Amino acid sequence: MRTILPGSTIGILGDGQLGRMLAIAARQMGYGVQVLGPNGLHSPAGQIASRRIVAKYAELDAVKSLARAVDVVTYEFENVPAESIETIGAEGTPARPGANVLYTTQNRLREKRFLLSIGCATAPFAAITSPGDIADAVGVTGLPGVLKTAGSGYDGKGQRIVRTAEEAAAAWDELGQVECVLEGFVDFSWEASIVAARGMDGSQADFGLVKNDHAHHILDITEAPAPGVATELSQRASEMARAILEKLEVVGVMCVEFFVTENGDLLVNELAPRPHNSGHFTIDACVTSQFEQQLRAVCGLPLGDTRMLRPGAAMANLLGDLWANGTPDWAGMLAAFPNVKLHLYGKADAKPGRKMGHLTALGETSEAAADTVRRARARLVGATLTPVG
Ligand code: AMP
Repeated sequence: MRTILPGSTIGILGDGQLGRMLAIAARQMGYGVQVLGPNGLHSPAGQIASRRIVAKYAELDAVKSLARAVDVVTYEFENVPAESIETIGAEGTPARPGANVLYTTQNRLREKRFLLSIGCATAPFAAITSPGDIADAVGVTGLPGVLKTAGSGYDGKGQRIVRTAEEAAAAWDELGQVECVLEGFVDFSWEASIVAARGMDGSQADFGLVKNDHAHHILDITEAPAPGVATELSQRASEMARAILEKLEVVGVMCVEFFVTENGDLLVNELAPRPHNSGHFTIDACVTSQFEQQLRAVCGLPLGDTRMLRPGAAMANLLGDLWANGTPDWAGMLAAFPNVKLHLYGKADAKPGRKMGHLTALGETSEAAADTVRRARARLVGATLTPVG
């Protein structure tokens, strides 16, 4: 398989912030970038690309036109229809990660069955495809549980917490009576993830286990490395990620999200076959970012060094809610926190819950960095600063 060298063009399915940050990494290394997505010419990734195709992922003529014009196609969004992937292949353009990776990760049931088949633990789960399945499913998972659509859900969308079988039945109606998975509610101690990459030659590298705090089911703060974690636990997470990428033959980047229980068990919550919000810290904190790593992997280049430049780093998401009382005070925050990096995704409308950007800080420890990004974010809206230390 040929190496796709700088000067070539990569195609990205998806025009949001992940595509944008990949496009920036690609432009930096001298690649052309073409994006296809539904969000218009001024989409986050469209602003960086040399060609923007405004289309839905299922529009095969548009997908074909992208595939013909680029040397490799990759994604920022895993719920691309299988037919679109086939169309890319039929044009003789490689799509990475491959169709098998998307097939497994596009459906929570298939993904969980795959994980169990390779010895990775998950929350107890059962499929629900008709009202008749609910009683049996509850028997498997216990209550409370979380009912999730099997396909196309993210950031807590398409899921409901259910406390009784009746609530499960009502939630299944609300979710549109589509194929769902009922999961047992995990009383986790904390949430973690690991972003890993696998190259065309089978080599692997990961960015280490990080700790994720969520607010309203959306990632809020990532601390890297996860603080206070025994080496044994992060090694175990790293080995699990390695096995998952190996077995799926991923060429590209994948994030493995975990629930960590009180007694140190790692349950896999979800796989994302692309860079992940919990890996955004790598842009400022690591020798190679997760986006450069994705580029290197899908182009058949050697993977880059994943080591951190400082012992700790943290990332805080900037959601549209921050704009509730007007534009955040960028200049004031940057003046007060010269060590904080501001990333904005070029989105025009700040809606509540919408990911508009993020802040990154480095520090002597991940906790110190997290304290810095929290205070910097509070400063954006003029909130009272918590005293240092
Ligand atoms: P997901 O979209 O599956 O990644 O879920 C989003 C968030 O909802 C997770 O990061 C958890 O905070 C929470 N969550 C999802 N599934 C469960 C579960 N089975 N038990 C407890 N919390 C969950």
